[in-house]
Amino acid sequence: MKTDIEFVTKTIWDVIARIDGAAERDRWVVLGNHRDAWVFGAVDPNSGTTAMLELARGLGQLMKSGWKPRRSIILGSWDAEEQGLIGSTEWAEENAAELKEKAVAYLNVDVAVSGPNFSASSVPSMWKLIWSAAQDVRDPKTGKSLYDAWHTRVRADLAESELYDANGNEKPASSPRIGALGSGSDYTPFLQHLGVPSLDMGFGGITVSIIRLTIRSIGWRTLEIQPFNIMLPPRKSGERLPCVWRMRKDCRWTTRTMRPS
Ligand SMILES: [Zn+2]
Repeated sequence: MKTDIEFVTKTIWDVIARIDGAAERDRWVVLGNHRDAWVFGAVDPNSGTTAMLELARGLGQLMKSGWKPRRSIILGSWDAEEQGLIGSTEWAEENAAELKEKAVAYLNVDVAVSGPNFSASSVPSMWKLIWSAAQDVRDPKTGKSLYDAWHTRVRADLAESELYDANGNEKPASSPRIGALGSGSDYTPFLQHLGVPSLDMGFGGITVSIIRLTIRSIGWRTLEIQPFNIMLPPRKSGERLPCVWRMRKDCRWTTRTMRPS
């Protein structure tokens, strides 16, 4: 294999926005996502950045009406994540002393939308917070609370033995599982280096890796993918998907594992 790689030094920059808290200025809630992408970044990171910018717009509207958060809110748009979490790590290192003392949580929204199903990963101390916040948010697909939609889906995937006891009585419903955080996105410097409680959340649920597709191959723009029309993945390996992506008429389907509805 012959590769042609250009070695250059480039400047990167993070964009930080901050709203001071009215009651607890020195308690920081930090929310962030990266801005760079391997190619066009339709899912990773732009679905997360879209959510973060919409949150910023909402907070701006609230501030115009005189609202102030109880604690300080910091939004971070990180650069050079794909090359090694560089932007977030530099910012976390530069502000390490203050973050250790003041940061109460770091919320990450990187791959925020690649399907219809909500899930989250976090430190265990944030599980109850995530479950309770999910009860206050409406699920865009079902109209139920996000928690109810999440819970119903998780129960639908459970085996009979996990749903019913030996006498056929339904077992008490347990809360949807929240995964553990490893590494691979910008929560790493906050959680792994500084010990700031962190979570990563988003809507997923399709089987192929669409994270780094280019627009020209099979990306969002060509196929006009509508995230909440993407159906559930097959339950058994080899089973075909009933319906996957809504396509424009002028598109050609190019993968063997899926077919259009
Ligand atoms: Zn990413």
